[in-house]
Amino acid sequence: MAIKQYKLSPNIHTIFDPRSNLAMVYHTLYGNPQIVSHEGLRFLNFFKQPRTEKEIIEMCDGNPKNTIQEFASIFFLIEPGFDEKEFLQKQKARHLSVVNTRQTIDRMGLAISDFCNFGCAHCLHFQPSGNTNTILSVYQRPVKQLNMSWEIAKKCIDHYTALMRENGHTLCKVHFGNAEPLFNWLVIEKIIHYCEEMHDLTFEFTINTNLVLMTRDIAEAFKRYQIRIATSLDGTSRANDAIRLTKGGKGTFNRILEKFDLLEEIGYPLDGFSITVTNGNFDLIDIDIIDLAANRGMTSIAFDYDLISLVDIPLTSRIDKLIRFKKYANNKNIDFFGTWDSVFRNLTSESLLTGNHAFCAAAEGRALEFNVDGSIKICSHTTTPIGHIDNFNQMFQETGGLFKIVKDRFPGTDEYCLGCIIEGPCGGQCHVTREVTARAVGEKRQKLFADMCDFYRLVTEALAVEYIRSHNSAIGS
Ligand code: SF4
Ligand code: SF4
Repeated sequence: MAIKQYKLSPNIHTIFDPRSNLAMVYHTLYGNPQIVSHEGLRFLNFFKQPRTEKEIIEMCDGNPKNTIQEFASIFFLIEPGFDEKEFLQKQKARHLSVVNTRQTIDRMGLAISDFCNFGCAHCLHFQPSGNTNTILSVYQRPVKQLNMSWEIAKKCIDHYTALMRENGHTLCKVHFGNAEPLFNWLVIEKIIHYCEEMHDLTFEFTINTNLVLMTRDIAEAFKRYQIRIATSLDGTSRANDAIRLTKGGKGTFNRILEKFDLLEEIGYPLDGFSITVTNGNFDLIDIDIIDLAANRGMTSIAFDYDLISLVDIPLTSRIDKLIRFKKYANNKNIDFFGTWDSVFRNLTSESLLTGNHAFCAAAEGRALEFNVDGSIKICSHTTTPIGHIDNFNQMFQETGGLFKIVKDRFPGTDEYCLGCIIEGPCGGQCHVTREVTARAVGEKRQKLFADMCDFYRLVTEALAVEYIRSHNSAIGS
């Protein structure tokens, strides 16, 4: 009988924190991060050469069989010749069959209006629609219809709720968004009343709005229907007004704050807001925006960088600012998150050995975003259509748009990502940044993509160091 040997997987990555003298060790495809001491690292490094169990037993004081089994079960230790991607391929095939049988969707969005009263240059609706190097916002596009009609909205809701019922789900998540949905408030209200008549289903509504068009009546309706509000404030006065502008180029800080006050006044205060940072407000944004949130009793801030416009700001400056803000916010009991921590969240939550994930729920095939004209995408910010309400079932088929995007975006699929230290938890990153980057030409495209990747790798390492420091126990201690 052949003697069993083990060796360290080539897909193991170690992040060492000199301050605590501990390390985070994880599998670059399957995650399962472990906090490990020097002794634990020594044990793992012993397997840089293939070792027999007998050799290991001779080296250790106790019996290391269980430890070896534990590390082998998460592919930290493998038998020579073992194909680690085989499991991933099976997982991918399983997930695609779930997409094919229309079981992955759990949420929907309606691009209820493509109009906007603001003119922020960083808005994702300013994405050019082709490789033309021109900037043309969606709401300025010369199309016939900018508001979703009730007929289209009803069809979208009908498709989605039928899918929920088909899969035995009773909780429906409906998001109203795109440019400024309050331009089409009447249709929103009609949808809510229509959904309320479906007594076998429960609905959670959310809306992305800049709030400026919110009247007292609308605010009361938000409260009555318990619509969760996602809104943005890009810093205190100077930082916000550097980039969040009206169409006429005026600052919006005071007008947004008035609406924060209105919501408080009617007893439906916001629990947080989103911040976007571009090269226009990077130097102006500071922790005073976190104080503003804390003083209003808020508990969450979604913070995101416009990675494209920040490409010339050193990565370390961007990451230091993020970590500083995160610590400051967390000390004030404010959850501080964004697309930037998606990789770390994937790494520390779901392993591809036991479940599925992609970069985000949209890339995993869990969301449908319906455009004003009835075309369908995976999220409101992308420009890639995956189907249309008039041919709803097609996108789930093997030749369909949803199937294809989930297949291409499944971790471990993209050749470019092969061997990356966050290949599994990143899975090729945000689809929108990829789309925007893909439109850049030549060397600029490579520079942008390399910068995005470096950003995600470094911010994940920085978060890992914070995580290590918050742990007192480690394997091998
Ligand atoms: S997109 Fe970049 S950072 Fe993400 S897995 Fe691929 S190579 Fe790594
Ligand atoms: S693709 Fe990007 S923008 Fe869209 S949901 Fe995912 S992370 Fe967000």
